Parts: sequence; C-alpha cells; structure tokens
Amino acid sequence: MNNFLIQRAGRFSLLLLLTLAAEGCAPPVYFDTPLEFRSREKYNAFMQTYSSYLTGKKFYIDPGHGGKDRNNKGPAGEAVEADLNLKVGLFLRDFLTEAGATVYMSRTTDTTVNLKDRSLLANESGADIFISIHHNAPGSGADRYINYTSTYYHAKETDYEYEPMERDLAKYIQRDLAYAMRTPGGLGSFDGTYSDYWIYPGAGFSVLRHTTIPSVLVECSFHTHEYEEKRLIQIEFNRVQAWGIFRGIARYISQSIPKVSFKSTTLKNGAYKAVFGISDTVQINPRSIRVFADSAETSEFLFDESENELSISFKTPGERLIKIIAANTRGNHAYPYEEKIMFTKD
Ligand SMILES: [Zn+2]
Repeated sequence: MNNFLIQRAGRFSLLLLLTLAAEGCAPPVYFDTPLEFRSREKYNAFMQTYSSYLTGKKFYIDPGHGGKDRNNKGPAGEAVEADLNLKVGLFLRDFLTEAGATVYMSRTTDTTVNLKDRSLLANESGADIFISIHHNAPGSGADRYINYTSTYYHAKETDYEYEPMERDLAKYIQRDLAYAMRTPGGLGSFDGTYSDYWIYPGAGFSVLRHTTIPSVLVECSFHTHEYEEKRLIQIEFNRVQAWGIFRGIARYISQSIPKVSFKSTTLKNGAYKAVFGISDTVQINPRSIRVFADSAETSEFLFDESENELSISFKTPGERLIKIIAANTRGNHAYPYEEKIMFTKD
C-alpha cells in the first residue's frame, strides 16, 4: 500500500487496512451454507421427505483415528484429523438419527480403537452400511496446496470381491459432500470416487477389507492445506460437511436398494435348479444381473421379470458358492449376496 493511498483513506478505511495487513495475505475462510440450513422450512422439508426412506435403516459410523492416534495435524497444528473426523461423525449421527435411522459408532469420544476392531464391531452391530470418516494428507513428495474430496470403495470393478453397491453409495456421498464443501473431486478419477486399491494395490484399506457389510471411506478434504485447516477447525463448517455426507446418503437410500434372497432348489428336466428372489420397490434391470458360481461367472441363469425370480441351473448336484449382482432401473445395486447353496432335488 503506497503512502498516497493511505493519506487519502478515511480513518475507518485506514483501520481496516491495518487490520488486513496484520492478518497477512491469507484469503478469508470461505464456506457456503447449504440451502437446507437457510430456513427452518427448507430443513424440515428435506428431513420430512427423506425420513420416509431412512426410518429403520441402520448405519455404522467410524470416525478415523483418535486416542493414542492423534499425529495427523494441519500445518499450524490447529486441526487434528482425529478430532475433525469425530466432529463430522457426531453431526452425521445426529442428522441420521433425526431422520429416523439407527446409528452405531466406533467411537463417540477421543478414544483408541484399533483398525480391526472397527470392522469387527461393525460386522456384529447389525448395521446395513458402514461409513468411515477421514481427512486427507498427501503422500510422498508432499504438496501442501493439494486439496480435494474423495470417497473410496473396496476393490476394482474387475475383481471378484468388488461390490457395486459400495460404489453407488460412494458416488452419492462424494457428489453431495464435494458440493457442500465446494471442493473438487481430485484428478485421479472422473467422479471423485476411488477404489482403495488405488492407494494399496490388491489390499485396500483395512476398514473396507475387513468390514463385511457394505462400506465406504470418505476423505473429506486435506487438513494439510493451510487455508483448508482454517475452515476445518470451525464447528459450523464440520456441520456443513456432515450435512453433505448425510444428503448423499439420504438421496442414495431414496433410490431404493434391491435385496437378493434364496427361495428353493428343485430337480427338473434333469437340471438341478436353485431359485432366488430379487426384491425391490423399484423395477429390477434384467441386463444388470450377473451370477458367479464358485467365483466363476456363469450365464446358466434365467430371470423371470413378472415374479422377480432368478433361477440358476446345473446338470450335476452339489454345493456351490453363489454370488449374485443385480441393480434396479435407477442404477442402485443390491446388497451384497454370496451364499453356499446346495443344489439338490429339494
Ligand atoms: Zn485418516
């Protein structure tokens, strides 16, 4: 600022300039208020619409790190990842509970929970869906200005263990969280969702690998970015983040999730046949159906659209591990289905 300008400035402006100078060159902390937070009516309307879908659903929220694991910090040391994850997780719990869902958590305070226990507790909880909440840091060759939102699912599309339902959920969470935070999705994928094999090839994240219920892991943004750190330590912003995740979950669930179940086995015309039901309030897309027997894909199946029944036939009897993938016409895939089925007369 040159002297001429300062002389021309009024007393108030001078004060303002001095204040700005004292705060350095950092831009102001910026975040937007979600539409639904701007009025009680809008908030209530959203809750009312989506509570009809969320009521009775069960979620397991896993705020990453905590207790002895508090090492991940922002450059100013103000944002501790463990605390950010917990704050976002608790707000998310509150939104989901308000909408009628049941929520379990791996931790509700700053305590140590080891990685395997997070998965085991989730598997035993009876929850339908597992969501792990984290904040990111760059790997080697650290770029302190890197910042994006990413959501991870387990394995890759071409792997047997890949469950497309997890990617469906990841897409919804990613879109609404990135929108709420005003962060991009990163350049490693087109939609901001990533396979965890991208980070750990062939293994993925422990919490996604060991959790048997459908699971995703959210890396909200980079706490290592010096401006991002400033907004992450604001509690109102953590509530905005949680709202983004909640909104994605709510919209995902509203598109319905098909369920596969075993019905019966028969011996007919020399073929051992097992019948499965694929139930949903939304129509099933017959072209989405894929069947695996003992990990190998098979085309030996028929889908009866009027009955929503899938039948799989083999010429010989015996036990087979059957995996079925199916989606409804809105693109949502069924809950993972993999069961040992004895192909017999009945
Ligand atoms: Zn983390």
